[in-house]
Amino acid sequence: MSSVSLVRCDGYGRDVCYRAVNEAVGHLGGMERFVSPGMRVLVKPNILHASEPEKAVVTHPDMVHAVCRLLKEAGCQVIIAESPGAGSLYSSNGLRKAYETVGYAEVAEDLGVELNYDVEYEEVPNPHGTKIKRFLIIKPAMHVDAIVSVSKLKTHLFTYLTGGTKNLFGLIPGLEKATFHGRLPEPDDFGTMLVDLNELVKPRLQIMDAIVGMEGDGPYSGAPRVIGAVLASPSYAAIDVVAARLIGMHPQDVCTIKAAWNRGTLEKDLDEIEVLGERWEDMVVDDFKRPSTYASGKKKRSGAIERNLVKMVRVYALRPAVMHSRCSLCGRCVRSCPTGAARESRGKVRLSHKKCIRCYTCHEMCTSSAISLERSLGGKALALAVERKNRGEKTP
Ligand code: SF4
Ligand code: SF4
Repeated sequence: MSSVSLVRCDGYGRDVCYRAVNEAVGHLGGMERFVSPGMRVLVKPNILHASEPEKAVVTHPDMVHAVCRLLKEAGCQVIIAESPGAGSLYSSNGLRKAYETVGYAEVAEDLGVELNYDVEYEEVPNPHGTKIKRFLIIKPAMHVDAIVSVSKLKTHLFTYLTGGTKNLFGLIPGLEKATFHGRLPEPDDFGTMLVDLNELVKPRLQIMDAIVGMEGDGPYSGAPRVIGAVLASPSYAAIDVVAARLIGMHPQDVCTIKAAWNRGTLEKDLDEIEVLGERWEDMVVDDFKRPSTYASGKKKRSGAIERNLVKMVRVYALRPAVMHSRCSLCGRCVRSCPTGAARESRGKVRLSHKKCIRCYTCHEMCTSSAISLERSLGGKALALAVERKNRGEKTP
């Protein structure tokens, strides 16, 4: 049976987070259940961008501090490693800037843990993968005894939720990440790839920073929202199920959870996942804003209009548009676009709707909030029809 522990934690602070993480791991049997003295352990936080912790884009440094401290107390050698988001080059300078901005440089100094600057990666065969038979993975991840994922609970325009399962995407080096969006434009395929990656790398322990998460159009442009929780689990998928419930999402709507469930790594009945500590039902955040792309699978199957929407998803789906007055021409969107739909021409970034597969990587990578999401006229008409249907009105 999968177990997830859930602990209340209403704010940050090194000691506060240490107590919360210690309690959460304690419910699972303590850190010694997952690691042994002398092990070299890689801590994998979420650094989407070099962003200040208050913006809720990254795993908070106090949470990373707490996990590293527990691992040190368990006698482990700790290294923090990550390859930031798809539009970022994987370089030592980029990593240095990211560690300093997010506060991990201070964590490392305080605890005497290592920060990874090695930007080499390795080709790793994945013969048992359902979707992907070979991954490029950052080198330190392949040369440690255990990986502990310290994720951040945020919404995500493409996968709806980023938590435990999606966090390992940061083990794929730099721009290589963008190629997956090109190869796997459907969220279900993308979720299956992420499950392949988790099954290959097999992190020992999941810790989730859900103290302040992100709602709305995450994982970068949403708004911070207090959730007040720390979660822990040996299972990347079970922790996401409980996380989804905390923010009012139907777990089976999240492509990574669906993929793990299809793989048989989750209980057939998700209600059988054991939750230790708090009851999740007592901690649900009312009116948590889902991403504007969110559509419940249940609704899609419930009527003719929704079935047609699946076929007409290209028309219905929000599409990116550049707000040129905000654009600094940094080129991140162009570098991260997997299909070449984003390109710079005559001093402006231009997006081709024909080539665009609606993966929203450009939106995720734009640190100037210069990419908006909007519907075409046809998409607006469809959205209106769905709203009417949901209100019980007749479609004209
Ligand atoms: S739209 Fe955003 S990511 Fe793209 S070049 Fe402009 S500022 Fe950079
Ligand atoms: S332009 Fe389209 S295909 Fe390119 S990154 Fe943006 S959403 Fe993805």
